Amino acid sequence: MLILRSVLDALRAHAAGADPHECCGLLLGEGLRIAAARPAGNVAADPSRRFEIDPQALIDQHRAQRHGGPRLLGYYHSHPTGPARPSATDRAQAPGDGLVWAIIAEETVTLWRDSPGGFDPLPYRVLDG
Ligand SMILES: [Zn+2]
Repeated sequence: MLILRSVLDALRAHAAGADPHECCGLLLGEGLRIAAARPAGNVAADPSRRFEIDPQALIDQHRAQRHGGPRLLGYYHSHPTGPARPSATDRAQAPGDGLVWAIIAEETVTLWRDSPGGFDPLPYRVLDG
């Protein structure tokens, strides 16, 4: 995958601002290139331990995409206390739809492919911009 440096910075900033809650949002772009992050509300009952993307953000995204906006490439969320890899809860929640998951823990951002068989680590390169 390719990800813009400004997107990485935005993910770290959102995670830091939401701490001690998990932040979450959408990853947008085209093909293999993640060009934007759209923050969403975390509507989980216990947002310090779980995340649930505000369904309205997904509805808005699907509508924008139908009108030619950037495509939904995946989702992101933070781990305020855990490592930057999928937790047991993440594995249980994941739909296995092939989309990208970004996980932020402090300054570390990792990408994963949500495959039907589980999460596969997804190498990425950072693009200036
Ligand atoms: Zn998680």
